[in-house]
Amino acid sequence: MNSLEQFMKVFTLIGFLTAFAFVSFAQEKLLSPAEFLGYELGDQFTAHHRAIDYFNHVASLIPNAKVFPYGKTYEHRPLLYLAITSPENFQMLEQIRTDNLKRTGLQEGTPSGKKTAIVWLSYNVHGNEASSLEASMLTLYELADPDNKKTQEWLKNTVVIIDPCINPDGRDRYANFYNQYGNIPPNTYVDGFEHHEPWPGGRTNHYFFDLNRDWAWTTQVESQQRVKVYNQWLPHVHVDFHEQGYNSPYFFAPASEPLHEVISAWQRDFQLMIGKNNAKYFDEKGWLYFTKEVFDLYYPSYGDTYPTYSGAIGMTYEQAGGGIGGLNITTETGEALTLKDRILHHHTSGLSTVEITSQNAAKVIEEFEKYFRENNNSPASDYKTYVINGSNHADKINSLTSWMDTHAIRYGHPAAAGTSRGFSYQTQSTGQVNITSADIIVSIYQPKSRFITTIFEPASTLSDSLTYDITAWNLIYAYNLDAYALTERLAVGKPYQPIAVSSSTPAQKPYAFIFKYQSLQDVALLSALMQMNLSVRSAEKSFQVGGETFLPGSLIITRRNNEGVHDLDGIVGALAGKYKRKVYTANSGFVEQGRDLGSSDLNHLTKPKVAVLFGEQTSALSTGEIWHFFEQQIRFPVTQIGSEYFRIVNLSRYDVLIVPEGSYKLFDDGLLERISAWVTDGGKLILIGNALDAFVDKKGFGLKKYNSDSEKAAAELREQDRLQNETFSRYEEIERKRLSDNISGAIYKVALDNSHPLAFGMRNTYYTLKNHERRFAHLSTGWNVGYFKENVKPVQGFAGFKANQALDNSLLLGVEEKGKGEIIYFVDNPLFRSFWDNGKILFANAVFLVGQ
Ligand SMILES: [Zn+2]
Repeated sequence: MNSLEQFMKVFTLIGFLTAFAFVSFAQEKLLSPAEFLGYELGDQFTAHHRAIDYFNHVASLIPNAKVFPYGKTYEHRPLLYLAITSPENFQMLEQIRTDNLKRTGLQEGTPSGKKTAIVWLSYNVHGNEASSLEASMLTLYELADPDNKKTQEWLKNTVVIIDPCINPDGRDRYANFYNQYGNIPPNTYVDGFEHHEPWPGGRTNHYFFDLNRDWAWTTQVESQQRVKVYNQWLPHVHVDFHEQGYNSPYFFAPASEPLHEVISAWQRDFQLMIGKNNAKYFDEKGWLYFTKEVFDLYYPSYGDTYPTYSGAIGMTYEQAGGGIGGLNITTETGEALTLKDRILHHHTSGLSTVEITSQNAAKVIEEFEKYFRENNNSPASDYKTYVINGSNHADKINSLTSWMDTHAIRYGHPAAAGTSRGFSYQTQSTGQVNITSADIIVSIYQPKSRFITTIFEPASTLSDSLTYDITAWNLIYAYNLDAYALTERLAVGKPYQPIAVSSSTPAQKPYAFIFKYQSLQDVALLSALMQMNLSVRSAEKSFQVGGETFLPGSLIITRRNNEGVHDLDGIVGALAGKYKRKVYTANSGFVEQGRDLGSSDLNHLTKPKVAVLFGEQTSALSTGEIWHFFEQQIRFPVTQIGSEYFRIVNLSRYDVLIVPEGSYKLFDDGLLERISAWVTDGGKLILIGNALDAFVDKKGFGLKKYNSDSEKAAAELREQDRLQNETFSRYEEIERKRLSDNISGAIYKVALDNSHPLAFGMRNTYYTLKNHERRFAHLSTGWNVGYFKENVKPVQGFAGFKANQALDNSLLLGVEEKGKGEIIYFVDNPLFRSFWDNGKILFANAVFLVGQ
């Protein structure tokens, strides 16, 4: 073009921009998502920050909505919720919130304002179930639009809280993937790359944690920050929006059995009413849906159960789609499933839920009050009081009490010592319980009563053993505590006094510093000491110094061997302070009992170079648990090696190799031979869960499936029986029959050889959370640190009798010594969802103590 044309073009552009700027400036109108984003919802995946911009746009333009930021993700994305209600209610928003807490008993006083229902809509907890975030914008718009008569009517007695995205890191991981690889127009064949996210997928958060398994355990920053604000509101209705397989019809309430027995009749009834209201809209459009199947209410750490056990009508809504859905996919029946459809369905069910709640607001609030009245005054559960023995390790007690704080659970000490009868978690039997004034009392006569019951009750009734998740999770076993469940009601008499840990300045220039080693915090200290390049040793046997007994595993830092460390005393003192550890000192290497501090029986701990297998063939969940453990819990550096190039890596650079759970194809005979040789040369191989499958019955590894040929023959016979039985089963019975072969996540007790370094710092029993039926033989050459004998059955949770039978005489924790190295076998994953406290110490011992 010539220069005049160019000039005219620029001129026009300037004119256009000026006009546009003027329009923007004068813009006071609420924009729809399409107007705001510049494209129709469903035409593309919206980046998280743009959706947040839209929420801020709405809050800035209408006088009856407000954005409440509540934190940040690991990748620094903002977390927020928006509250919207009628302009009149909005003036009273804070009173509505505090009135509601007064109804629960969590806040003192009597509610005095207008009764207002509270509905909380949570979107996109699974990042790749990506229609959710889009639907949240449309739902917000309809609620905010002053011209929408229906929604404005609902808001007169209802507050709606919208969390547009629980998992922004996972959501953007998915959206970025699709925006990079999606075809134009979208390729609708399921084979297309755009329908196959690469590992680890967008479902999980930064550390590959499933945030919809983390509400109760709150191991992740997203959950920690969200649960805090959730408990500041305690809504009456909570919806967690999901997506499922791309061929499925829509799922909404009522939920499937099993429903936990603490769930109230009203919670069941109103689920039904909500479901019927949703059905009305879905029927009008002819959309397919299902209810009462698959999605149960049992495991307490979901986005439906956690709210349910905290007084809400908690629900999961599931749309077809997920990571495979893309913008448009052809289903098995040949129909198109578009992002637009998915958004519309979630939008419809969301608004329908607000509508039915608003229509029943008075009853909803009345029943909510009743729920908490029962919690506070007449809880139905058999066990009324949980007693945690005050003599348990202080770190464990402190972890558990801070966990209870997170969930607004009240506890304290009894008024006086006394006796009662109750169930002992250590012996699994009922007998006399001596209660001291140092014990911690958790009474179920309190607002969080039902939630407490689901976490601590010794056995839960399972109305149907076909469930979606694990059937046991008791934190008493996770921490392996001395504790009791009483049917008697005991009241808290005195406020809890935290156990103070004195990290007082040690004596001047001692011969050695000594730390006990019994908890995860001790592991974190060891990690810090190693990174300061201090020479640390670990005791193999008990010893006594200054009248104090130190158990195996205790950490010793002698002045000798640390001469090169500048200001040793200052460093040790500072770290003890930082990690709140008690420092013991010895002024002589001559001990009162046991091996002297200079003895070569004290193992020098080398700072290990740790490699972790990572990437495609590994389970992202298991790999993420390991990543989070090292990075966030004990702050120790590791090298993650991708399973795609693991083969070409020089293993001799590493002291420890951790193989997470996964489905492995890379371990062929050649690679196994190399790994075996690396172990013989001094490497330490740590295998977790189903990673053991790649090493069982392989040359160079001592792991066997069966102890003997006769055991193998018996197992094969059982398998034949099973198949035969199935062949002649009625079709409708097969799912149930298979249950007898299943372990649906149950807790088992084993004796632990805590004289072995793998179990240092532990008790002589261990509770393991088993969520698979795999079994391996006892090690014939090596240490069976934890193993099953005969008549195996869980202390809590569901496991089929045949599955239990198969566990007879099997391995749980084994250490094989091989040349200069070791192989450590964890048959169960000790880091599962990162809430099994005891498992973490075992895992740390494998990394830092075994073989030193
Ligand atoms: Zn989901």
